[in-house]
Amino acid sequence: MAYVYDDQNIFAKILRGEIPNKTVLETDHALAFEDIDPQAPTHVLVIPKGPYVNFDHFAGSASEAEIAGFVRAVGQVAETLGIAEGSGGNGYRLLSNSGADGVQEVPHLHVHLCAGRVLGRMISKA
Ligand code: 5GP
Repeated sequence: MAYVYDDQNIFAKILRGEIPNKTVLETDHALAFEDIDPQAPTHVLVIPKGPYVNFDHFAGSASEAEIAGFVRAVGQVAETLGIAEGSGGNGYRLLSNSGADGVQEVPHLHVHLCAGRVLGRMISKA
């Protein structure tokens, strides 16, 4: 199925500067900002600047530069926030919801970086 990107989604508006955000990092290919409804002491969203609905859309359609830029930005955010174990932090959880079963609310690819407490098991079995 071909993806159709809705340029009226909230993150598209954030990228265009129409909605404010608390920016953690901005690079050529990515923007990281605090989640408006944090689920952990640290809860940051990282999004690519291009019009991609979800992870598989991005993986299949983005350029090498966009993919490298996005992935490196995620790592840079973890370093910047002091949560990367390699830099003495306590670690984090990285996740990306997609579609109905993934319960994706905003149809612009984003990864959640959550940290700051023990986050429990990955997902409930129910
Ligand atoms: P999803 O369920 O799509 O993976 O997660 C969307 C996330 O975006 C949620 O955690 C929600 O709190 C966050 N969110 C929704 N609207 C806004 C907004 O206007 N600003 C910010 N910073 N986060 C938002």
